[in-house]
Amino acid sequence: MTSEYSELSTCNSSLSGPYLQDLCSGSAFILFMTILETYIQASELISGKCERMTPVDNTETVYDYVIVGGGGAGAVVAARLSEISNWTVLLLEAGEDESAAMQIPSFDEPLLGSEIGWNYYTTNESHACLSTNGSCIWYSAKCLGGNTAHNGMIYLRGYKQDYDEWASMGNEGWSWEEVMPFFLKSEDNGEIERVGSEYHSTGGPLSVERFPYIPSFSQSIIAAGIEAGYGYSDDLNGDVVKGVSIIQATNKHGVRRSSSRAFLWPARNRSNLHVSLNSLVTKIVIEDGQAVGVEYDKNGTSNSVNVSKEVIVCAGSIRSPHLLMLSGIGPKAHLDSFGIEVLHDLPGVGENLHDQVSHAVNFTINEPDIFDNDWVAASEYLASQSGPLSSIGLSQVVMALPSSLTTSDYPDIQLFFEAYVASCAPGEKGALKSSGKRSVGVGVGFMRPKSRGRISLASKDPFVYPVIWSNYLDDSRDVTGLVEAIQLTLALANTSALKAHNFTLSNPPLEACSNYTFRSDEYWACAVQQDTLPEWHDVGSCKMGPASDSMAVVDHQLRVHGVKGLRVADASIMPKVTSANTGAPTIMIAERAADFIKNYWGR
Ligand SMILES: Cc1cc2nc3c(=O)[nH]c(=O)nc-3n(C[C@H](O)[C@H](O)[C@H](O)COP(=O)(O)OP(=O)(O)OC[C@H]3O[C@@H](n4cnc5c(N)ncnc54)[C@H](O)[C@@H]3O)c2cc1C
Repeated sequence: MTSEYSELSTCNSSLSGPYLQDLCSGSAFILFMTILETYIQASELISGKCERMTPVDNTETVYDYVIVGGGGAGAVVAARLSEISNWTVLLLEAGEDESAAMQIPSFDEPLLGSEIGWNYYTTNESHACLSTNGSCIWYSAKCLGGNTAHNGMIYLRGYKQDYDEWASMGNEGWSWEEVMPFFLKSEDNGEIERVGSEYHSTGGPLSVERFPYIPSFSQSIIAAGIEAGYGYSDDLNGDVVKGVSIIQATNKHGVRRSSSRAFLWPARNRSNLHVSLNSLVTKIVIEDGQAVGVEYDKNGTSNSVNVSKEVIVCAGSIRSPHLLMLSGIGPKAHLDSFGIEVLHDLPGVGENLHDQVSHAVNFTINEPDIFDNDWVAASEYLASQSGPLSSIGLSQVVMALPSSLTTSDYPDIQLFFEAYVASCAPGEKGALKSSGKRSVGVGVGFMRPKSRGRISLASKDPFVYPVIWSNYLDDSRDVTGLVEAIQLTLALANTSALKAHNFTLSNPPLEACSNYTFRSDEYWACAVQQDTLPEWHDVGSCKMGPASDSMAVVDHQLRVHGVKGLRVADASIMPKVTSANTGAPTIMIAERAADFIKNYWGR
């Protein structure tokens, strides 16, 4: 037993769910999961009960800054602004605090679709998710930390070309050279010796490092990638941007670091920072073209709060445009049709929505199909936050590859592998999931989609979800990129490294695509439209751009065009998605927002 094992939390506060036994509701799992939950909650290193923010029940009547949404970006903005001790900051988050279970890396998947999520569905897809009637599920966390509290924690920034393109679209100050200091500002890289300080830093609030546990099968994938000629990168955020790699992740010694845990928790003793949970902002109050406050619902009661300096909207790609429209900022005809008074006609609000798109290609290998979580793995995690529960399994193995649509120094394909995930299980060692072989999934992603969708209102009632239309695969180049990515994936099965495991495609031919020869390009072009897999890296719906761009929503300092005292700072402002996962870029955007605000107000 290590010393950490005895580090029991001395704080008695009860944490909200979801609890492990809720995430793994099968009767075979209940006993093991209930006991594990108890121990996880009791471990201070894991649950962090004593380090959390204490939310306020009631807010003051006025704050200098009100931040809407405590997710990937909002938690960062709140923490950074409250560094100025004579500024008062209120963070309003629609959901609860993150749960103890969310701190365990291997439980990221069971969290999807759980009570902590908004659980959205897209509608009216003509080219995607056809097997589910043109509707794709969009996971999105409703809690402090937002999606960074249940995402895969993969820390990839995207590429120089991504940001240089943002700058070339008229966004002064957003080139790679100019954004890099803000990535470094956040970062506390736990492997600085290995990754070096040219691209990484230490001392920031966000712990970034490889997970403590890497399944041994990862070595076979790496060998296969090298054998297939895809190359190897020790750090995809460094000089070598292409190839197979073990990624770094936003975790500290096997425990998740959401943006809330990384940025907000250390600010918990600041008296000038208030966090109010279960507080859904329903309207930004605008008078004479200036944001002067917000209205919000807390547990069924309407409240309002005034702001003396700025409202910063960090509600994410779905809810930021939704809130702007509810508040009278958006496309005039659309707002008119719902009887919303138009305070500023901004046609780009909700437009330009896009997400990377993927497809699941599954294989079997010659191994029994066993559960990867058991009492031994759980004990190891509780004792030292290592072992299978301390990682996302094989998903930390990523390949960044170029399709024929790009150049070799600017990959647009991402493959990530899925297996050996220690989550829901009955507990005993070696328990079988099925009598078949072990599955290895590959999430095959096309990372620079051209298709664009939209967020629009379904109602003027703020409690009614907006309409989400991803329009995945509308542009045929996205299908081309995805099909090429699938063929690159299938080629891995021909390597001796994976043949040794009898790595065999297990996707059954789809009835809906039976007109095409199985495994042909035409077949896959059909299959990706049937069984489309969202990446949940949705961006772009409050696009950043100059005033000369009629579809721009915010300017290069994230100020909403035409409204004073109002900024949007989250993933929605990306004019084009970066070529990798969007968590790190969103945190960078939040760092920039806080910096703009501090400079503007003279700090
Ligand atoms: C399943 C999944 C896996 C992912 N995996 C990765 C990964 O491995 N690596 C990576 O880099 N990225 C990943 N991402 C993407 C990444 O997490 C997001 O891009 C990032 O969190 C976006 O941050 P945000 O601040 O824009 O929005 P969010 O993180 O969604 O935060 C928005 C917050 O605002 C709150 N809110 C919304 N409306 C209101 C309102 N009206 N009033 C008050 N509060 C409100 C929400 O509850 C939420 O907390 C993943 C995303 C998902 C969904």
